[in-house]
Amino acid sequence: MNPIDRRKFLMQAAAGASALTLARFVGAEEAKPDLDPNDAYAKAMGFVVNTADADSAKFPNHTTDQACSKCQLFQGADGAEKGPCSFFGGRQVPATGWCRNFKPKAAA
Ligand code: SF4
Repeated sequence: MNPIDRRKFLMQAAAGASALTLARFVGAEEAKPDLDPNDAYAKAMGFVVNTADADSAKFPNHTTDQACSKCQLFQGADGAEKGPCSFFGGRQVPATGWCRNFKPKAAA
């Protein structure tokens, strides 16, 4: 490979790598869909869109002051109506939701 071909090849390789990195970054910014309460796994975890609807007979430790917005796994902004839940692979859950995996946020 002559020096000019090599330089051209290296520049094209660098441009390709940058494009791939950018594509990954842009992809990471895409919001996942809402978590479907009828999804089999969501159901198994007792997920409800409103914490008041949780099955208290099945989940006796549940209290109505527990909600996704107060859970460590909720990644929505403070005051957001919904946000990604890391437990459910980043799918969106409502701030008012709840599931049996609720983990209270540490006190600030
Ligand atoms: S893990 Fe937390 S944020 Fe996710 S659905 Fe359950 S209670 Fe909501």
